[in-house]
Amino acid sequence: MNKAALGRLANEVRTDFGLADDQPFDPFRWSSENGIPFISLREFTADEAAMRHFLEERPHVWSAALLHDGRRHFVIYNPERSPERTRSDLTHEVAHFEAEHDPSPAWTDEGGGCGGTTKAMEREAAELAGAILVPLEGARRSAIRGLAPQSVARRYQVSVEMAEWRMRMSGGYEIRRRARAKR
Ligand SMILES: [Zn+2]
Repeated sequence: MNKAALGRLANEVRTDFGLADDQPFDPFRWSSENGIPFISLREFTADEAAMRHFLEERPHVWSAALLHDGRRHFVIYNPERSPERTRSDLTHEVAHFEAEHDPSPAWTDEGGGCGGTTKAMEREAAELAGAILVPLEGARRSAIRGLAPQSVARRYQVSVEMAEWRMRMSGGYEIRRRARAKR
């Protein structure tokens, strides 16, 4: 899927939830409406080997993991990360589902990369998650108006880095520059 198609898919996901361009996306609501549980590692004790892997071998490295227990998919996530990071980690997993990537176990690491999926799928998931969290129109309008990334981050409840990235990619700063140059 190209960027435009991913943007359209992101808008569909947001429209299904009745979200306006300036409202934050809640991955936990997606979880309950789609029947794919998001479980904090603190409440997840089914698999000791997995727990050891996360807590002892790679304690700071992982953010969320997509698992399948033979009956259904579910996602476990690291409860130690900030709410903004958790929102972004979980929306990344949402993006894999929405893009209909083969949901083989995907281990999301600190940098947002997963194992078990291809590089192309990771690029799609990152782009799609960004567009679900901070929609193109909202990012563009914010950049044109010259809003601080901090206030955009607060509005969408994402990290400042995420807000900056979405504003930069929206083309809004170019529009702002051209408009100011004309004056
Ligand atoms: Zn991924």
